[in-house]
Amino acid sequence: DLGRTGDELGLPVYAVGGFVRDLLLGVENLDLDLTVEGDGIFFAERFARAKGGRVRSHPAFGTAVVVLSDGSKLDVASTRLEYYESPGVLPTVERSSLRHDLYRRDFTINTLAICINSDRFGMVTDFFGGQQDIQQRTVRVLHNLSFVEDPTRVFRAIRFEQRLAFRIAPHTENLIRSALRMKVLDRVGGIRLFNELVLILNEQEPLGAVRRMAMLGLLPFIHPQLRLSPETERAMTESSRLLTWFRLLYLNDPCQQWQVYFLALCERLRDDEFQEACRRLSMPGRFVSQVFAHRHRALVMLETLQRRLKRAQDLRNSEIYDSFHGLPLEILLYLAARTKNDQVRRLVSLYITRLRHMRRELDGNALKELGLAPGPNYSRIMKRLLDARLDAEVGTAEEERTLARE
Ligand code: ATP
Repeated sequence: DLGRTGDELGLPVYAVGGFVRDLLLGVENLDLDLTVEGDGIFFAERFARAKGGRVRSHPAFGTAVVVLSDGSKLDVASTRLEYYESPGVLPTVERSSLRHDLYRRDFTINTLAICINSDRFGMVTDFFGGQQDIQQRTVRVLHNLSFVEDPTRVFRAIRFEQRLAFRIAPHTENLIRSALRMKVLDRVGGIRLFNELVLILNEQEPLGAVRRMAMLGLLPFIHPQLRLSPETERAMTESSRLLTWFRLLYLNDPCQQWQVYFLALCERLRDDEFQEACRRLSMPGRFVSQVFAHRHRALVMLETLQRRLKRAQDLRNSEIYDSFHGLPLEILLYLAARTKNDQVRRLVSLYITRLRHMRRELDGNALKELGLAPGPNYSRIMKRLLDARLDAEVGTAEEERTLARE
């Protein structure tokens, strides 16, 4: 259908970038990026009208996003013919404008284009040796100033290298090192830095990429004290194990993987350093103070629990519940990843798998029906009922009623 719209409008349309790269690698990629040789916005509007979708366009960039009724999205770019060419362009000049568009991209492996018009369907355009680099599993920039032009490409290079099991080409790696010596990352705004870090930490197995970041000297740009010590590596490996466990059990519970890894990565930072790192990444103030407060509470609690366990004190379920209640899952997983104490880890897992779901049966109305006068004592009774449930002192609504009357 996309090709047909292009045919009808007489516009050459290409699938480009990551989609083509992954197609050649046999990796699933549902993000289709298109480049239209000509007016991409016009193309997007026509296509959306034919398919009953919506278009958000950015005329200044010549780009549009088509959102179809099933929720799928399509990014459309223009080759910006109008910016570079004079009127009455010839086809060869049009092709060179596609080249221009692809030349602005980050790595050769992302510069392939596949035509989807019916007359040239499936024809691959490869100006910069992208196919060979895909075959040889190499991440390579297109020119020497690439990382100076856009320092976030350093993160992208590492992300692709690790995800696809490629290798950054030696010359490209040298360019990264010299760009970092020039401190180009200091020029990158916090939000962009943050986005790149989150993309890395949300990869399936981010530890390899974090190791590579450490090896190339990227971590100090997030915080001067940030290092990948053996301890930090251990916490990150544990995080990975726990996140896998958690996802298997609770597929539908939302859990921000990057937060668990970020906390693990920062585990050696002092409180004030942790806050500085968050600020460098321009994390929203309210979010930082929440994470900070939770991290602080978690660490204090870790100590308390370890002390009590050392004294071989028994912990009642209701106490375990009180210790962990109110902490987000990300913090709980971080806590479990960080501790070296198996018993503490078992407590966290007990809380996640069982205790956090436990409820009492009686509600306020039920207490009223029992003839108890409403008031502040209600919340005390409710808490008592929940504690009794957690500690298996009661198991039925009837037993709860008996307890409530006492
Ligand atoms: P992913 O699978 O992670 O989405 P992708 O290759 O589709 O990988 P996107 O971030 O969606 O990556 O970007 C789409 C395309 O835009 C890339 O293939 C790349 O060619 C180009 N691109 C993205 N960011 C940059 C950048 N910083 N510099 C140059 N080109 C970029």
